[in-house]
Amino acid sequence: MQNDSKPGSPSSHEQPATRLVHSGRNEGDLVPFVNPPVVHASTVLFPDLQTMQKGAQRWSYGRRGTPTSVALDGALCELEGAAQSWVTPSGLAACTVALLALASTGDHVLITDSVYGPTRHFAERTLTRLGIEVEFYDPAAGADITALFKPNTRVVYLESPGSLTFDMQDVPAIAAATRAHGAFSIIDNTWATPLFFRPLEHGVDVVVHAGTKYIVGHSDAMMGVISANDRARRPIHRLYGDMGLCVGPDDMYLALRGLRTLDVRLRQHQKAALTLARWLETQPLVKRVLHPALPSAPGHEIWKRDYTGSSGLFAFVLQEAPQKSVHAMLDGLKLFGLGYSWGGFESLATFPDLRGIRTATRWEESGNLIRVHAGLEAEEDLLADLAAGLSRYAATSNLG
Ligand SMILES: *Cc1c(COP(=O)(O)O)cnc(C)c1O
Repeated sequence: MQNDSKPGSPSSHEQPATRLVHSGRNEGDLVPFVNPPVVHASTVLFPDLQTMQKGAQRWSYGRRGTPTSVALDGALCELEGAAQSWVTPSGLAACTVALLALASTGDHVLITDSVYGPTRHFAERTLTRLGIEVEFYDPAAGADITALFKPNTRVVYLESPGSLTFDMQDVPAIAAATRAHGAFSIIDNTWATPLFFRPLEHGVDVVVHAGTKYIVGHSDAMMGVISANDRARRPIHRLYGDMGLCVGPDDMYLALRGLRTLDVRLRQHQKAALTLARWLETQPLVKRVLHPALPSAPGHEIWKRDYTGSSGLFAFVLQEAPQKSVHAMLDGLKLFGLGYSWGGFESLATFPDLRGIRTATRWEESGNLIRVHAGLEAEEDLLADLAAGLSRYAATSNLG
């Protein structure tokens, strides 16, 4: 997938920001154009029957690759340091295809209790229907995860930090234990992106992303990414092909375009989120800020050891107050939209329902948890919007 040998291609000693701009650009047939063509294709024609029978042509069929898909796959693969990358029609599909590719009937699969909700539901419903034993584990488990291993443990699934409660996991320790057992590790790395954490370098076998979030980056397409090392590449490649997965060229183009600015966008998301998180920590209405880059956060030491940055998504817990105060706070926000997803240029706020999100551990925090995504608006405007929101929260409860 990589073409380091071509003149002008990025090489591995260059910084990720440089590689984001240059990777995936020498693929295909239209090298002089800065961007690859958006190829709308099903059928590809062959010059003669012999070429067709031998499969001796670079392009064979739309589903099996186009200059657009090869450019995107190549860029993602290089960014992640993977043996191969694939794009899926949504982030959830990346999570589920990776799990399905590596677990078979009779296997035992360990999944972090902090996992993204729809991935949990897939495991509980579909994996169990296929005769795969699913067990959720405490995200705080490090090397001691081995206590949960059974002879048939085949996959350990991680997500760090969890996207609602921001628990950090000791990824290298869990990955090493998993490998020693002969099993595969998969991590959902959506929060960090490959710019802030490269799991394959820490011993993980497969990385999945909701490309919908920071990679696309503009809230205008759905996409997932799977990247695997050499050890896990084959079964994923086979299932991906067997399931007939592919993504439309316009969406792939949007992802490739998003990638080019990922570094500058993430720097600003990081800066704005830290400004807001540090300010929230000083507010008496705020009990706790759940942001791994704050020294007060549990898991901060792990974040500092393994991650090179933090993104725009975090949460905070407010002093207890009736739900009407949360409504007053969130309904009145001018810049933070109420909406699912995150990773776009716009700021968002949600009030997730934490009941039933855990089965192996418990979420003990009392008080209302608000999750925010810091967008690319000016930080002082975002701060003023949140400050006015906190005033409404106080004024409509007995905290005011
Ligand atoms: C959003 C999200 C997904 C799913 O991505 P979609 O593109 O919405 O299907 C998976 N994992 C995490 C951590 C997410 O935040």
